[in-house]
Amino acid sequence: NKFEQYGLSEEVLEALSLLGYEQPTQIQEEVLLPLLNGKHIVAKSQTGSGKTAAFAIPICEKIRWEENLPQALILEPTRELTVQVQQEVFSLGRKKRIKVADVFGGFPIDKQIQTLRQKTHVVVGTPGRVMDHLRRESLKLNQVSHLVIDEADLMLDMGFLDEVKEIIARIPKGCQISLFSATLQPEIKELMEDHMDEAIQVEV
Ligand code: AMP
Repeated sequence: NKFEQYGLSEEVLEALSLLGYEQPTQIQEEVLLPLLNGKHIVAKSQTGSGKTAAFAIPICEKIRWEENLPQALILEPTRELTVQVQQEVFSLGRKKRIKVADVFGGFPIDKQIQTLRQKTHVVVGTPGRVMDHLRRESLKLNQVSHLVIDEADLMLDMGFLDEVKEIIARIPKGCQISLFSATLQPEIKELMEDHMDEAIQVEV
């Protein structure tokens, strides 16, 4: 099993084997080590490449269970992607009993507020609803050490750039950022230049 070369915990290796993931995909081979080493990553990659596990494995590996506040925030452009990614992070983190909350618009906010009041290790959400929770202070980013901006080009097309920037402005200094996008438009390059010093760029 080629996942063993990354020094992953028994819990994460077990979760991978339960999912039937035996070999890392190409994107996983390229980004697992840099992400485990805390580097910023910019990856040009498509859905279907296994990019969700590529960022979810290092997140699950690094979560400290005792901590109550969220340690990772994953931004997604749509509700469907939010739910899919929530499920994948949950599956990869199940042996560590990692709690993953999903937050998206068009769904009663009160229930999400209740969920966020409980122990939450990872939050997956759409930028608008994430901002809404930040303004209400139902979501706190003080302990977030990894931000994922997934499908950045779609995020841009859907008009979420300002919200993404506002969220970046609220994460702690030194937070690791990884950005996944099929294309790197000028606005995305600008984000990288402003917030992702010495990012490692990969293309698969
Ligand atoms: P994604 O690009 O993250 O949407 O993943 C595409 C599909 O590949 C999903 O159905 C994953 O469950 C699956 N997948 C991700 N990583 C692996 C792996 N290492 N081995 C086999 N399947 C995988």
